Amino acid sequence: MAVVIAVGAREANSVQSVLYSAVPVVAATMASLNVLVALSLILEAGVYAVPLGEPSPSVGLAGNPIWSYEGINGPAFWHEVFPTCGGNSQSPVDLKIENTTHWSGRRPFTFERYDVSPPSVTMKNNGHTVVTTWTTKDMNKLPFIKGGGLEGEYVFSNFHFHWGSDDSKGSEHTFDGDRYAAEIHLVHFKKDYGTLANALKHKDGLVVLGVMVEADDSDNERLQSVVDALEEVVELGMEFHPDYSIPLDALLPEEEDRHTFFRYQGSLTTPTCNEVVTWILFQTPISLSSSQLAQFRTLIGQDGLHHLQDNFRPIQPLNGREVVFVDTGNY
Ligand SMILES: [Zn+2]
Repeated sequence: MAVVIAVGAREANSVQSVLYSAVPVVAATMASLNVLVALSLILEAGVYAVPLGEPSPSVGLAGNPIWSYEGINGPAFWHEVFPTCGGNSQSPVDLKIENTTHWSGRRPFTFERYDVSPPSVTMKNNGHTVVTTWTTKDMNKLPFIKGGGLEGEYVFSNFHFHWGSDDSKGSEHTFDGDRYAAEIHLVHFKKDYGTLANALKHKDGLVVLGVMVEADDSDNERLQSVVDALEEVVELGMEFHPDYSIPLDALLPEEEDRHTFFRYQGSLTTPTCNEVVTWILFQTPISLSSSQLAQFRTLIGQDGLHHLQDNFRPIQPLNGREVVFVDTGNY
């Protein structure tokens, strides 16, 4: 799961240079670690620019991979630079239905403004995925969710995708060991915490809805506009403001298929791996065609050279965490 944080250009540029010089001496002090955590979140977001009276920065990450999905900066080494990635409540995990606690009789989710086509969105290739945010920063105009056993309201922040190098893999979570062709994450932060950045400091800060994507022969017309827009963000750091974007509803299973889901406490699946996420993973997948999935693989990753694919983290141990299988269909 990727996180998008709003930063001004000047701040972003200065923190990048700090981070590059700080990486080799990572073990230093708690203070520098805290700085690193904040900085890497910004970098993970590809130095996500929003209108704060500053011009958009150039990303300039090419040739300076801080973390990646393979090699010496790959998942096996993330914890060396980002210690929380070595924690006991990490994501993703394999979800086995026979090993879950079953909940029923809970109030179903309410999806507010999920049926609204946003007036303006930003899509960005941050080198790790393509992230879509609504342009408005007015929390009261953004979609939010409640119910489903959650305490309080969680406001939409961004959605993004994880995918494979072919249709046999791509999802981060697995169901009974089965991996899907892709996984969509809809990231939400607790409204009480005001911002995503602040929510990252709290155990109950984030809710991420995860939707599995299976490969199909026919196109998913509801997501075609997203797929079409990918050619506008092929290169690292590219941003695109499409004329039209989909309501969030289009990313979820059909309404009658949303009442069964897995729930557990985990982490961001990318550095800095904060253990602040309530994961909600719908049991029913949606579909994209093989040719639609192939469009994601045309994007260029953070090294500026290679195609962005297999951007999923390996399965992490549950370490005794409870996984709940929730059915709100009988509420
Ligand atoms: Zn994700």
